[in-house]
Amino acid sequence: MAIQLVTTAAQLRAESARLLRAKGGSSQGLVPTMGALHEGHAELARTAVEQNDVAVVSIFVNPLQFGEAVDLERYPRTLDADLALLDAVGVDLVFAPEVQEVYPGGEPLVRISAGPIAGKWEGASRPGHFDGALTVVAKLLHFGLPGASGGVELPAYRAYFGQKDAQQLALVQRMVADLNFPVQIVAVPIVRSADGLALSSRNRFLSAAEREAALVLSRALRLIEDRANANQPLDLESARALVESQPLVELDYFEVVDPLTLEPLAENCRDTPFRGEALAIIAATAGPVRLIDNVPLNS
Ligand code: AMP
Repeated sequence: MAIQLVTTAAQLRAESARLLRAKGGSSQGLVPTMGALHEGHAELARTAVEQNDVAVVSIFVNPLQFGEAVDLERYPRTLDADLALLDAVGVDLVFAPEVQEVYPGGEPLVRISAGPIAGKWEGASRPGHFDGALTVVAKLLHFGLPGASGGVELPAYRAYFGQKDAQQLALVQRMVADLNFPVQIVAVPIVRSADGLALSSRNRFLSAAEREAALVLSRALRLIEDRANANQPLDLESARALVESQPLVELDYFEVVDPLTLEPLAENCRDTPFRGEALAIIAATAGPVRLIDNVPLNS
């Protein structure tokens, strides 16, 4: 394997600087993940490899963003398989720290406050989730910051996030803009299985029947997308009814929102032709798994 595994921030800084120098490179990309990697993560990593001289993937299951201890404990951990996948994609460095390395003083007393966007949708059912997620993203972005590689200019620095977690992506973009983080955020479209299900590390907990039922989310989103593309009224109610007709799926929310503020665009959802730009977002549970999905709408 050409890929290198490091577990401390000091090793990450030293190894990434060494690689940048060795390659005469001028850019570094970071892909933050929680591991249990699938083709969605691989796509983020591939994009980082293509766009940067040095590509780093972090693997860290962040206790701060989990509400329930059981969810944290049962989160899948598959480091050997993750390393093989990232090696095949051409990633240079994997940063897989222990909790103690990231939070040496225990839980941080000072945290990122994710603000009003964090209170709705995913945040409504997971209080504190986005404060915890942004706090670790802030730390990981600092850990992954490239040092001067011998040139006059600092290397370019990019970080890669999936459109799958649309609310997280919007919040990371706001954090980086509002707090002047020296990094460019790159959004990567959702990777789906052939039958439409958005890939997720938690999908492995679905039974065959639940997985089949979960396909209703992407079907309902497709319905809305087709109507938007045809400048038809979105008729969100009928799409909601389709999801609610699936007995193994419990719908949490299904809305059409502004892609930046995540505020509902209610007037755009009923019986007037769709115009403009929006995001259709959906969340539901199937068995033990919370499913989220979304699709950008553009007339
Ligand atoms: P996670 O390991 O679940 O925290 O995800 C790490 C990154 O991978 C996040 O930026 C996710 O949005 C992204 N990601 C997860 N699943 C997918 C997917 N199916 N398609 C694209 N990106 C994804």
